[in-house]
Amino acid sequence: MAGKSGGARQLEGGGLAEKLREQVRAGALEVARTGNPPKLRVLLLGHDPASASYVASKTRAAQQAGCLAETIRLPTGSSPGSLLAEIDRANRDPEVDGVLVQLPLEPGHDVRRVFDALDPKKDVDGLHPENVGLLHQGRPRFVPCTPAGIVALLEDSGIPIAGAAAVIIGRSEIVGKPLAALLTARDATVTVCHSRTRNIAAVCRTADILVAAAGKPGLVTSEFVREGAAVVDVGVNRLASLEDAPPHLRGSERIRQAIAEKGRALVGDVDFDGVSGVAGWITPVPGGVGPLTVAMLLKNTVEAARLRGGE
Ligand code: NAP
Repeated sequence: MAGKSGGARQLEGGGLAEKLREQVRAGALEVARTGNPPKLRVLLLGHDPASASYVASKTRAAQQAGCLAETIRLPTGSSPGSLLAEIDRANRDPEVDGVLVQLPLEPGHDVRRVFDALDPKKDVDGLHPENVGLLHQGRPRFVPCTPAGIVALLEDSGIPIAGAAAVIIGRSEIVGKPLAALLTARDATVTVCHSRTRNIAAVCRTADILVAAAGKPGLVTSEFVREGAAVVDVGVNRLASLEDAPPHLRGSERIRQAIAEKGRALVGDVDFDGVSGVAGWITPVPGGVGPLTVAMLLKNTVEAARLRGGE
């Protein structure tokens, strides 16, 4: 799980994700002994290449872990009504255990109506208000996958959470807010930053655990990081050329090489090279949090199958 990078130990999610997938395989087998294997249905609206690639890796991972998985594609420009009708169809289908609507949606769709429309017992992304409420009351049913993966990675790495000062950059429904609830429940003192936060670098420097989930390449530089802090980079940003990168990342050999070889570079919200010299722990992008997001989705799908018949 940990390698060395600059002064920081690297927190890679792959090893833990594999362990979780083993548990999922065992759980899926157990479910299948008394009925069908767990089944995930993903609804994919439009033709965004990044979304299509996330969906392909989720369904492939589900199948490899002994679950059934299928994708329903809705063409670009599909109406909100047609998406809600597909959700209703999945909710009513007794063979479907978990339903996931791939985000982001196209303009014109109201994401809250989508969350409201999900059967809360099939909501494997944990976004229905009932599941959000249960999480905030400290009795989670389905925890959103990325925050669940981050907490699992911190715990697995032996990074103390209780009593720690945790700063999260980003307050989205899918990452920042649920992560704040999970860390608070584990006795961290949590601060949530967003685009209106003043003196954000100074706020971040108070963190023992700093999580960046803003979707802004290289936002977190070494001046955001207290020496020895654990830095978790959730951001996934695609750069097609060095000009797309903020000026302070343009000298990065890693980014230059990726663009030269693959025509694009995936970078996080953290200036990995600069921050590695200050942090105690750092997650790479890719290879940090991403694999855990998928593993947690599978875990939730097995949980949903266990709720089948609904108590
Ligand atoms: P989002 O819904 O766009 O939310 C971004 C949040 O960051 C907002 O709260 C926004 O503040 C805040 N923000 C934006 N620019 C900022 C700045 N300059 N300073 C401080 N705060 C800023 O994004 P998301 O869905 O949470 O995703 C965040 C990133 O994580 C994206 O890159 C996404 O691709 C990635 N992601 C990765 C995984 C994974 O598995 N690795 C999973 C999910 C998401 P306001 O609220 O004020 O607008």
